Amino acid sequence: MNGRILQTGLAIHCENLSHYYELDGEEVLALDNVEFSVSAGESVALLGPSGSGKSTLLSLLAGLLRPTSGQIYLGPDDITVMSEPELLQLRGQRIGVVVQNPSRNLLPYGTAEQNISFAQRALRGYRRIDLQSPAELLAALGLSELGGQRVSRLSGGEQQRLSVAVAMAGSPGLLLADEPTSQLDTANRDLVGELLRRITSSFGTTVVVVTHDPAVAAALGRSVTITEGRADDRDQQREQYVRVDAGGAVQLPPDVLAALPPGSRLRVVRKPGGVEFVVMAEPEHSGGTR
Ligand code: ADP
Ligand code: MG
Repeated sequence: MNGRILQTGLAIHCENLSHYYELDGEEVLALDNVEFSVSAGESVALLGPSGSGKSTLLSLLAGLLRPTSGQIYLGPDDITVMSEPELLQLRGQRIGVVVQNPSRNLLPYGTAEQNISFAQRALRGYRRIDLQSPAELLAALGLSELGGQRVSRLSGGEQQRLSVAVAMAGSPGLLLADEPTSQLDTANRDLVGELLRRITSSFGTTVVVVTHDPAVAAALGRSVTITEGRADDRDQQREQYVRVDAGGAVQLPPDVLAALPPGSRLRVVRKPGGVEFVVMAEPEHSGGTR
């Protein structure tokens, strides 16, 4: 038979995984003894507050960082003991990555198909004969209309869908995406969600996506929340992320909206390194002194 063999998904198993960064001679704890497992072909949304180590975990899974301690099995192999050439081959052959900023995933002057061919060119040395042509891959992903278009002409949403296609160009066993929709509007977030749903249902690829986007999380089979050793777990559960829209408005979670109905006032406190919102108690009698 000369049918194309899609690679099967890679199972993930992380044990006692810890990672520290060194910053100005200080150790910064990013991951503290994390256990994380994903079955082959499963899809997972990775949630957690900012700074909880989600991007670090994706970089470790991609073999771009070596952990301070612990094991990372992708399939049967512990990638923490692989040599650099072995890791390079693993990344090239078996792992697809999508980052937040669409333009960082793509070559702007090429067409959509050329971007896919370029990603596949690197795989020729590995004698990969199982790859779909760029046009076939785009068709399988429902993105045929992008084929001949230049990346610089595509909208941000189209670019990010193409980024997912480029990450799938090598028919990877593992697709990793770090907040792929955080820079997109609602309609485009939904389209990326649809694309991920298509991948999880008809490709064998294991998929891990860091996201705060309900449309994306809904496309994936399971959600995992990372909590890390530094902060009180209860505090972390109380923390949640909301997005500021183009007009400067914020969508509050329903329980918070119930406590802060429209018209509520917040005090905006500018602080070094951030902004804090303080809920002001409603005065008993409005129209009082200020
Ligand atoms: P998330 O993606 O969940 O926001 P990260 O994995 O980016 O979290 O970061 C986890 C922790 O590690 C944070 O405290 C962050 O400040 C720190 N960190 C991330 N990257 C670096 C780096 N290159 N150098 C030093 N500290 C880092
Ligand atoms: Mg991050």
